This record gives sequence, structure tokens and C-alpha cells, in this order.
Amino acid sequence: MSTIKLAIIGMGKIARDQHLPSLAANSNYQLVAVASPHNKLDGVPNYRDIETLLREQPQVEAVSICTPPQVRYDIARYALEQNRHVMLEKPPGATLNEVAALVDLAQEKRLALFATWHSREASAVEPARKWLGTRKIRSVLVTWKEDVRVWHPGQAWIWKAGGLGVFDPGINALSIITRILPQPLVLKDAELSFPSNCETPIAANLMMQGPQGIPVRAEFDFLQTGPQTWDIDIETDGGRLLLSKGGSVMHVDGKPVIQEPDSEYASLYAHFVPLVRERRLDVDLAAFRLVADAFMCGRRVTVDPFIE
Ligand code: NAP
Repeated sequence: MSTIKLAIIGMGKIARDQHLPSLAANSNYQLVAVASPHNKLDGVPNYRDIETLLREQPQVEAVSICTPPQVRYDIARYALEQNRHVMLEKPPGATLNEVAALVDLAQEKRLALFATWHSREASAVEPARKWLGTRKIRSVLVTWKEDVRVWHPGQAWIWKAGGLGVFDPGINALSIITRILPQPLVLKDAELSFPSNCETPIAANLMMQGPQGIPVRAEFDFLQTGPQTWDIDIETDGGRLLLSKGGSVMHVDGKPVIQEPDSEYASLYAHFVPLVRERRLDVDLAAFRLVADAFMCGRRVTVDPFIE
């Protein structure tokens, strides 16, 4: 079968750290070009925008969009209109309606559209889902606390409307729990802390509820220094499950069960191959909807300005 000729749109941190090595290791793809306003990649043609790239490189069949969320929709829409398959970094857009419009367009044109959730591909997520499937869940505590200065240096877009602030990492946790817990999960209460000089929150506490009233609490914080915490702690009638390190490590009643190296992006690109070949969509918005609900219903607290 011929390789998928792919272009990356947005040559920033995640494109370099994860997309390039995963593409290089997967013989189903040929990276043919890059579009980014300023950054460049050696060894392939570079363009400032997707319009020029697709005009100059008509052989491109698919694009992987690694830009900040605020500009994702116009780029994805243009790619679909130009009959290209589309893979979206998380979050899949800046609003729910943007993504709904992309779904309609991809279906109408019979093109692949993949709204990726890299954390769902972490090694312990599927084993955790299976383990939970045979037990009654009593409560869930998500603790997702990281140092924004370490993980998002200089990323001004994260503090602008549509950039999600602390929900940029927080949505990764929500993508995991919306995969492993029984649905629906609904938001009951939220408190969002906005620095006085930012348009997005730096911390958030969510209270959600699953079926049969299961309480699901989430604490997100962008100012954690020292050890970083990406944990999901689940009490059940058959023991306590702890997913840690972003979903790559699983303990049951304190004993390690799974501890494997990260292959999240390799899995995403492997999954995109059949979507392209069969012209299918994979768009699950459960995590994105919870974030939208938190912005819609959450109480707003103003906190100290954020100075990087
Ligand atoms: P980043 O380092 O700021 O990179 C984003 C890149 O997008 C920038 O380099 C910028 O290019 C480019 N860009 C902006 N507008 C564009 C446009 N109109 N057309 C083409 N390119 C454009 O951000 P990032 O950390 O890579 O994050 C990008 C996305 O990936 C976010 O949605 C984030 O949630 C997600 N993500 C990030 C991480 C992570 O660890 N950083 C992990 C998983 C997912 P120029 O510099 O050339 O102007």
C-alpha cells in the first residue's frame, strides 16, 4: 500500500517533540512539507501557511494540525475543503460548534477527521478501563498539577481566550476519565481561578457526577513546583486503582501492575492510517464538552497576576 503523504501545520513544541519522531518511525507516512508562520524544518519544503503549502504541494493527502487551538478551525476547514484528510491536536478546536462544523464537512466530503486525545493512548488507560469494567466505582479524584513555566514556556496563546489555560493539560485528564469511567459524566460545580492579567484560568476545581451518583472530583493547578502530579485515584468495591504519570503507570491497592514507556503519539499515527484508508471519522467530544460546561457554569475567582 502506498505511503500517506502528510504535511504538518504548526511547527512548535509538540510537533518537534512528538509528531516528527512518530512519523519518522512509521513507514505508512511520508512527511512532505511543513507550514508554520516562523519556524522551519530542515529537509522538507517550508511554507508560511496552509494555503501556499497545498497550492505548491498538491500531492499532500493529509495534514496534521499542531497549532494552538484558536487558529485550528480555519486551517482544518480549508484542508477539508481542499479534499485533504485531517488529524487534529487536542483540543480539537476553540468551540464545540467549530468541531461540529468540521464533522459535517468531513462526512459530506467522505474524508478522515481524527480528533486526537494523546493521553488516552497512555499504556495503562485501556487496562484500567477493563479492570474497572468488572467493579463498582465508589469515588474518583483527579489531581493534575504541573508547572506552567516548565511545560509551556513563552506560550502566550495559552493565556488568551480559547487557549484553555489550566484546562490545556486538564483536558488530558478529562479525556482519560471519559474513556475509562461509565458515562455520562456531568458537571455539578466548578470554580475557575483567573489571574487578573489573563483571559484563561490558572487553576480549576471541578465536581462531576457519574451514573448512580458516583462523585468525580478534579483539581487542576498550573503553579505546582517540585514533583509534578498527573494522577487519577479510583476507589471501587474491589480495590483502589491509581493511574499516575499521566496514565502510563497503574497501581492496584498500592502494587504496580503496569509501568510502560510512552508510545502515545506512535499509537495516534497508527490509528490515523485506517481512518485515512477507509475515509472515516474518530471525533469524541466528551472531554471537550466538560471543559465547555466548566467555562459556562463555573464560578470565577480573580487571583494574582501571572508573570512568567
Ligand atoms: P507551540 O510550541 O506554541 O507551537 C504552536 C505552533 O503553531 C507555533 O510554533 C506556531 O508557529 C504555529 N502556528 C500558529 N499559528 C499558525 C498558523 N496560522 N498556521 C500554521 N502554524 C501556526 O505550542 P505546542 O505546545 O506545540 O502546542 C500546540 C498544540 O498541541 C496545543 O493545542 C496543545 O494543547 C497541543 N499539545 C501540546 C503539548 C505540549 O507538551 N507542548 C502536548 C500535547 C498536545 P510559528 O512559531 O512558526 O509562528
